[in-house]
Amino acid sequence: MRLFRVFSKIFTVSLIGRPNVGKSTLFNNIVGERSSLVHPTPGLTRDRIEAVTNLFGVPIKIIDTAGWDPVGTKNSPNMIEKMMSQTRKALFESDMAFFLLDVRQGVTIADEKLAEYLRKEGVKDYPNLKEIVLVGNKAEQSYLGDISNEVYSLGMGDPIMISAEHNEGIVDLYEKLRDAIPETYFEENKEKHEKRLQRHAKVKAEKYKELKALETTTGENFNLKEWERAYDEINPPENSDYDTDSEINIDNSIADPIAYKKNPEVLRKVKGIQLSIIGRPNVGKSTLINSLLGEERVITDPEAGTTRDSIYIDYVYSGRKIKLVDTAGLYKRSKGAVGKMIEDDVKKAIKFSHVVIMMFDAFEGVTPMELDLARDVIDEGRVLLLVGNKWDKVAKDMKTKFSDYYADLFYRKITLKGLNIAMISASQKYNTRKMLSEIIDLYDRWNLRVSTGLLNRWLDSFKKVQSMPTEDGELLKIKYITQIKSRPPTFYVYVNDRSLMKENYLKNFTNSLCKEFNISGVPIRILLRDKH
Ligand code: GDP
Ligand code: GDP
Repeated sequence: MRLFRVFSKIFTVSLIGRPNVGKSTLFNNIVGERSSLVHPTPGLTRDRIEAVTNLFGVPIKIIDTAGWDPVGTKNSPNMIEKMMSQTRKALFESDMAFFLLDVRQGVTIADEKLAEYLRKEGVKDYPNLKEIVLVGNKAEQSYLGDISNEVYSLGMGDPIMISAEHNEGIVDLYEKLRDAIPETYFEENKEKHEKRLQRHAKVKAEKYKELKALETTTGENFNLKEWERAYDEINPPENSDYDTDSEINIDNSIADPIAYKKNPEVLRKVKGIQLSIIGRPNVGKSTLINSLLGEERVITDPEAGTTRDSIYIDYVYSGRKIKLVDTAGLYKRSKGAVGKMIEDDVKKAIKFSHVVIMMFDAFEGVTPMELDLARDVIDEGRVLLLVGNKWDKVAKDMKTKFSDYYADLFYRKITLKGLNIAMISASQKYNTRKMLSEIIDLYDRWNLRVSTGLLNRWLDSFKKVQSMPTEDGELLKIKYITQIKSRPPTFYVYVNDRSLMKENYLKNFTNSLCKEFNISGVPIRILLRDKH
């Protein structure tokens, strides 16, 4: 029996290897949308990202490193040292590491150098690091090569062969991981894990009951077995974040769809909003952050575009906590390795934010790349706020024309009802507070949960006013709708035959749903299911 435990830490695994072997892909595969606690590391987003996710009932921290390339021709010694120091820092915190190789490229000099370093110093340099496991990535079924001879020279044992992208072999990797976790971690988390499972079962059972009742009243067959399967898939019991109180519930006890607005108590419970600001250089991102903070806290690196780290700041606005992350910015494409890394960085910032401000220069205009990026934010299911800065530079009599132009431009690309554009002047602090209110409002919409009862009452009235589309006399029947997840609001709509759902009808359906429950302006997902 253990009497003491000096400190309780999270079992930590880092993903190491040279760039492009697929570390980020594996990271996303493991963490996916399931993790309950994801955050870019302060000051280091460009180089590494970490997330805590629940696996086997144990919280596990996964660290993705930028990669280490000692032989890359584009990398200066300074850059190499920076990259290597990231890998070292990650290893220092880790209990275990997955050392990734690209089997299609075979073992490269860079791989050999890293292996040599790890063999020589590796385990003894790092207090917690118990095991380094070699992983051969990109080994999907279509791969026929064999690198067993080359791998032997690394002296690190046989690799686990996987395909991070095609989700193959990941189970073997999990098995290895599970074996490496000391029993104490399972014991310590047993109670929490069981609670989580119970909570999941309870919430699911409540939903099931609602649906069952509805099934009885309508006399329809809802195929609840299929719903149950979808529910577990979308809300994996192991990772359910029911223990966080980040969701705003609209249920029958608050029978008013916009009650949450009137109920600040509910709002205060919501956790910090993770906000990042993306945009081209010079659009005014730093100026905005400084103006919000009222002091010069964002220091611009002279080597902008190569070494500038991200900055992580806690900010409180109207009683709500906002975590501001200034990303490395969006630099022009095709600037070699660095350019790509920063682009990846912006993608990561989007993935790990709740709300993304996509800032553009309202005086200079918008490039296609900025439109694509705004679209990415919505496709990732994140809250997007478009912010046109330097509004002070736009002449008074041109303002209406400009804002109409931008509204039209972005709407064409994104086609999201209620899409919002805030015109501000960061340096003059014009509209910046209004912009924050807008962020909070959108974030709350994104968190919304609507009860099955309310949803189906709305559905009934919708069906009354909107005639159903038919095909060869066959009638589309929408049997029920239920919300299966929030952040973004995700709805499960059960119909008799999906192919009868026409695009236009779905658009009306979605718009009406958003209007009724006040979720316009945020991405939502509709999952259509039918009897097939
Ligand atoms: P990182 O630099 O190590 O983080 O590598 P990334 O995760 O960014 O992946 C680099 C490239 O390899 C991307 O184009 C991925 O799509 C690709 N990739 C990642 N995993 C696989 C895989 O399992 N199979 C194949 N064929 N490509 C992969
Ligand atoms: P970043 O690269 O996106 O962080 O941009 P900065 O915050 O460094 O701003 C770039 C330039 O735009 C600086 O010279 C700022 O003074 C200027 N700037 C920022 N916001 C405004 C604004 O609202 N109006 C005007 N006229 N200039 C601005």
